[in-house]
Amino acid sequence: PQLINQIAAGEVVERPASVIKELLENSLDAGARQIEIDVEQGGKRLLRVRDDGTGIPRDELALALSRHATSKIASLEELEQVASLGFRGEALPSIASVSRLSLSSRALDADTGWTVEADGSERIEAPRPAAHPVGTSVEVRELFFNTPARRKFLRTDTTEYKHIEDVVRRLAMSRFSVGLTLRHNRKQVFRLPPAGTQEEAARRLARLCGAPFVDHSLYVSQQTGELRLSGWVGLPTFSRSQADLQYFFVNGRMVRDKLITHAVRQAYQDVLYHGRHPAYVLYFELDPALVDVNVHPAKSEVRFRDSRAIHGFIFQALHQALAGVRP
Ligand code: ADP
Ligand code: MG
Repeated sequence: PQLINQIAAGEVVERPASVIKELLENSLDAGARQIEIDVEQGGKRLLRVRDDGTGIPRDELALALSRHATSKIASLEELEQVASLGFRGEALPSIASVSRLSLSSRALDADTGWTVEADGSERIEAPRPAAHPVGTSVEVRELFFNTPARRKFLRTDTTEYKHIEDVVRRLAMSRFSVGLTLRHNRKQVFRLPPAGTQEEAARRLARLCGAPFVDHSLYVSQQTGELRLSGWVGLPTFSRSQADLQYFFVNGRMVRDKLITHAVRQAYQDVLYHGRHPAYVLYFELDPALVDVNVHPAKSEVRFRDSRAIHGFIFQALHQALAGVRP
């Protein structure tokens, strides 16, 4: 089973940033309102995610580190319309099989916290009591210490850190209601309080994408039936130094999708600016049954049931919104 975990880790855990992604998704699934992320040496030495979610009861701590012990799917039908971000029950065991992992948690109704540790082997000792507020901390040290070939494949600390920052930035853009802090080598990079109003959201976005983008963008909010598109599109006055300010979220999940990119670009170029690539941070919401987000474990692709209709809606919605600001 440990070999299977390590092979699965090859799918799920490509680099420190993928560990952070999985841990953050777990924190969100647990209803966290505040998440603290600590990274050392590009994540090679330490990755720590601490949340104030519902926590894990003592008896379930070891289980959380064993394969396919997800608590999130009860039936196959549920798998069809899964709303939670993670549901494969593979992430923690995979990460634990290629690192020194400690999982500490205190459940909502428990009067103390507990810790379990894994060191890349299958053996998981009994939980020990530990001081911990309600919520969960996962600490991952020495990623790939027991798979030297994989460890060697990692890039420089700076590059690995950049990937982590990207993951955190995307999360911060997709969950405005969740407070986030990110520290690298004990230095604070982001401290983002929960953003409730649109103004607070814009302030957070300015921290993440730069103030010029927010100042030179149009806020879009369009709805047709159950399809809803909202967010910010950069205006022609926004001259971008950042190469790639293009973020699109489908039901809260960042995706890169040719169909979507095409619809957005076509609307933008049609109305505003021929021959230029738009900058945008857009949110698309639709019935989860109309979209398949489980294409790949890395989960950045989507398949729409009716891609023509989706393309049409996104194009129309943006076209309409932008028409009001045609220069
Ligand atoms: P999955 O998220 O696919 O269920 P994981 O391996 O990521 O599988 O996590 C295993 C289980 O551990 C989860 O189903 C959940 O019950 C528990 N868990 C993991 N992280 C947290 C967390 N931050 N807060 C509460 N429970 C968690
Ligand atoms: Mg998970």
